[in-house]
Amino acid sequence: MKDRGVLTVFSGFSGAGKGTVMKELLRRYPDQYALSVSCTSREPRPGEREGIEYFFISREEFEKRIAAGYFLEHAEYVGNYYGTPAPYVIDKLEAGIDVILEIELQGALQIREKLPEAVLVFLLPPTADELERRLRGRGTETEEKILARLARAVEEAEEMVHYDYLIVNDDLDECVEEVHSLIHSCHHTAKNRRELMEEMRKQVQRFRREA
Ligand code: 5GP
Repeated sequence: MKDRGVLTVFSGFSGAGKGTVMKELLRRYPDQYALSVSCTSREPRPGEREGIEYFFISREEFEKRIAAGYFLEHAEYVGNYYGTPAPYVIDKLEAGIDVILEIELQGALQIREKLPEAVLVFLLPPTADELERRLRGRGTETEEKILARLARAVEEAEEMVHYDYLIVNDDLDECVEEVHSLIHSCHHTAKNRRELMEEMRKQVQRFRREA
């Protein structure tokens, strides 16, 4: 019997390298993982492609979809809506593929409520100095934006406590393998093996003896 896929929520400090870790995980294990593409009501940034980074829809369309129950979770973040399309995630999990959601805290907590077997992982930089170095190293943002992002880290640090696992992204290679083995081991949690449990329960019934 093929297990259902494991649902992992991946959040973390902005600048910790979430995107890079996810990209590398999918490159190494393309058949095992699927990254859910969210819908958002924000405008695309230069270089962002429809259906790759996000599905870009209007606020009105977003609200229609909320009402229709299309989202597994949704949140308003800095004035824009973000949401995870339920059908894609459910289909993949049922096909035994591990699905990853790269979403923020409010969404992560909704997932925990709805699907308690989901695993919540938070990615950290090794130190605050390193976080600053990485944010500056991108060389694409203004000083003001860098300072705003660093200030966000103070709030982000308060979010860690809500997650199941903290992973430090020091060496990319090690970090990717840690995430991979963590998700792999979650296939064995009792919460993720309901079908196996049910099947075993049924099988042992034939040993039952009347009292
Ligand atoms: P950005 O606008 O920078 O792409 O994303 C802003 C925040 O929204 C990030 O923390 C990102 O992880 C989060 N996010 C992206 N998609 C979703 C989603 O479907 N649901 C929720 N709750 N957050 C999301």
